[in-house]
Amino acid sequence: MDFAMSAEAEAFRAEVRQFLAEHVDAETIAAGRDGTIHSPALHRAIAERGWLSGAVPAELGGGGMDPMELCVLVEELQLHQAPADALGVAVVAVSMILEHGGEHLRTAVAPRIMAGEALACLGYSEPESGSDVAAARTRAERRGDHWIINGAKMWTTLAHVADYVVLLTRTDPDAPKHRGLTFFVAPLDAAGIEIRPVETMGNERSNATFYDNVVLGDEWRLGEVNDGWAVMKTALKYERGIAGGQFPSPPVIEAAIDWARGARRADGASLIDDDEVRHKLVRAAIDVEVCRSFAYHTAALASDGAMFGVEGSMTKLFASESYKKHCAWFFDMMGAHGLLTGDDPDAHRDGLIEEHYRHAPVTAIYGGTSEINRNLVAESWLGLPRSR
Ligand SMILES: Cc1cc2nc3c(=O)[nH]c(=O)nc-3n(C[C@H](O)[C@H](O)[C@H](O)COP(=O)(O)OP(=O)(O)OC[C@H]3O[C@@H](n4cnc5c(N)ncnc54)[C@H](O)[C@@H]3O)c2cc1C
Repeated sequence: MDFAMSAEAEAFRAEVRQFLAEHVDAETIAAGRDGTIHSPALHRAIAERGWLSGAVPAELGGGGMDPMELCVLVEELQLHQAPADALGVAVVAVSMILEHGGEHLRTAVAPRIMAGEALACLGYSEPESGSDVAAARTRAERRGDHWIINGAKMWTTLAHVADYVVLLTRTDPDAPKHRGLTFFVAPLDAAGIEIRPVETMGNERSNATFYDNVVLGDEWRLGEVNDGWAVMKTALKYERGIAGGQFPSPPVIEAAIDWARGARRADGASLIDDDEVRHKLVRAAIDVEVCRSFAYHTAALASDGAMFGVEGSMTKLFASESYKKHCAWFFDMMGAHGLLTGDDPDAHRDGLIEEHYRHAPVTAIYGGTSEINRNLVAESWLGLPRSR
């Protein structure tokens, strides 16, 4: 077995690193830590470089970048702490539009998102439905050529900076849950849409979005009426694809090593020589290698043209759970000093470990919770009985 990346993928990594050295400085990273994990300048530069359209599958009209290269791109963005949440969302939105959208969405909306001129956000979750996304209640009713939308979405991340929301609605409340859904791509400046901030403990800003008699022409419909679940399957397919790369821990481990080198135990010994600290640092480094193997394996499957499903769940599950564990270990290792937040001049590395400690739990919620992913692994991989 050869675990090394191909020469092409490594050459691409060098190209990405050079690009990031030019486009991601301390200011860009700091702005991304402010709540909205998005940098307009960086997003545009990535699009101009052709990596956004490149990430869209070729069969849909995108650049069809090799999944290994896409994995390298996501890995390097995370390792450089580049605020690039809008990239994955854009790729998913464009893929959904190109696979299911009509003329208007394909010609007037998808090219703007691909060029980095417009941003999309995802409006699936609601106050009463997250994991069970098919239970969405936001209502779309047909009136002649138009649709009237009423309802509320929760966790519409990036809505406050986006131009369009990919909106899951219920069009037939009497049909079985998965059969009465229809998607729309709604322009966020439409009358009747309200966006309210939702702050999270990890600093990340999300939104609650409200739809009060929003009028949309039929050209904004995405996919067939009452066949929204088919569109959702496309979304999940591409979301898992882009989420294949998960490398949140390395900056935290690096900050922890740095701290352990400088800190002393009560008996005067350096913390880096403490057995328990060394054990945890090594364990965390091994976990990162496991994450990398999961991600590369998932990307390699996609590269060979295979449709992966549960492999994406395993990657996401292992990455977010180990990231949560690493942050808790290193936060604990720092004792009272670990409590200092980034605005305190004495904070180690601008409070990076403390901040990641607060951020890590949400990664085990969005994009499918750890419990849901465990269910998928149990059912699809281990052959255990269905849980629901
Ligand atoms: C910061 C953040 C950003 C987000 N961004 C977006 C976004 O941009 N767009 C969007 O549409 N959504 C977004 N989400 C929503 C996210 O996808 C949901 O929060 C997630 O799917 C969980 O849904 P829920 O919050 O309704 O919890 P619930 O589904 O109510 O789950 C509550 C708990 O029960 C567990 N549970 C639920 N069902 C099962 C089951 N069958 N078996 C075992 N355990 C179960 C869950 O794992 C969880 O622990 C975001 C969430 C967060 C926190």
